Amino acid sequence: MPTSRDWSIHFREAFRDLRDLYGFLGWEFPEGHLRVERSYPLFIPRALARKLKDQGPDGVLAREFLPDERELHPAGLLDPIGDRAYQRAPQLIHRYPSRALFTATSVCPVNCRYCFRKNELAVTNELFQQDFEETLSYLRAHPEVSEIIFTGGDPLTLSNEKLEKYLMAFGELPSIRDLRFHTRYPVILPERIDAGFLSVLGKASAHFRTVSVAIHANHVSEFDEENSAAIGALAATGIQLLSQTVLLRGVNDSCEALLGLVNKFLELKIRPYYLHHPDQVKGGMHFYLSLEEGRSLYQKLRGLLPGWAIPLYVIDVPGGHGKVSAFNPETHAYSGNLMALNGTIISAAEPNRTP
Ligand code: SF4
Repeated sequence: MPTSRDWSIHFREAFRDLRDLYGFLGWEFPEGHLRVERSYPLFIPRALARKLKDQGPDGVLAREFLPDERELHPAGLLDPIGDRAYQRAPQLIHRYPSRALFTATSVCPVNCRYCFRKNELAVTNELFQQDFEETLSYLRAHPEVSEIIFTGGDPLTLSNEKLEKYLMAFGELPSIRDLRFHTRYPVILPERIDAGFLSVLGKASAHFRTVSVAIHANHVSEFDEENSAAIGALAATGIQLLSQTVLLRGVNDSCEALLGLVNKFLELKIRPYYLHHPDQVKGGMHFYLSLEEGRSLYQKLRGLLPGWAIPLYVIDVPGGHGKVSAFNPETHAYSGNLMALNGTIISAAEPNRTP
């Protein structure tokens, strides 16, 4: 497990300037990317920059994290999932009855170029203002909320002390039974999984019914010995580890890439959970692929995995309509040779059965 230096030093030393980064990479400087950087800032920790350099300018990591002039294309939505309509307190989004998103911070360990919040993170807005008392009083008045999902930005940007303070406050509400963190830190800046954070998780596990960490990763080449060790330390706490992946053109839009990623998750004791269809976000449309393309890939993936290892393929319907399944086998996988009739499925062939 990485313990060499305090994680905040790695955070402070991250590349924020395009010229500095390209000086380190030793690649030809793309002048045109300066305009992109002004709209969508760069943030890349040094360890990730080293991996990026090893992979080269045409690698998957360069596509995920380096500015690209296609980000300036005007197509796409500023708020593709429309969750602002469900903001109930300055840091709280309540869209589904039993769970609420707690937007703890706007800061991340890396700036992903495909991010669905890229137009919100580039500015400061009310989604990330702090008024924790309002969040607590909303939750007191809404006991139907049983799960708090720490999101952002990335919630692990907060110090262990601050996280513990929030957890204690949520722990005083009898209606809150489950906690979940959605984070990219374990993969991007594994030093963040320090002894203090593991202790915070241990205390949370003793109090809440479930504690989950949903780890965001999109490609097997994001993993190395260091982050695998940090994820191993998380797994050793006994909390639930879940995966979260965005399907991205040019990054993981092949059955081979997705299968390799799922196998890596299983190796690291991460339960495959979400495969997100990409959001139609302004500045990220070059990562977009159609639903038909995504469904065709997912159909092939389903045929190669046991049922328990298949992530849910989901899409956030633009306009704030929420997350729904992006795949319906009755209308896609078996079209033409299967019919659902009064609850009975009549099959001429079963090309994608998943035991
Ligand atoms: S870590 Fe998540 S919220 Fe942060 S930039 Fe990447 S995709 Fe966006």
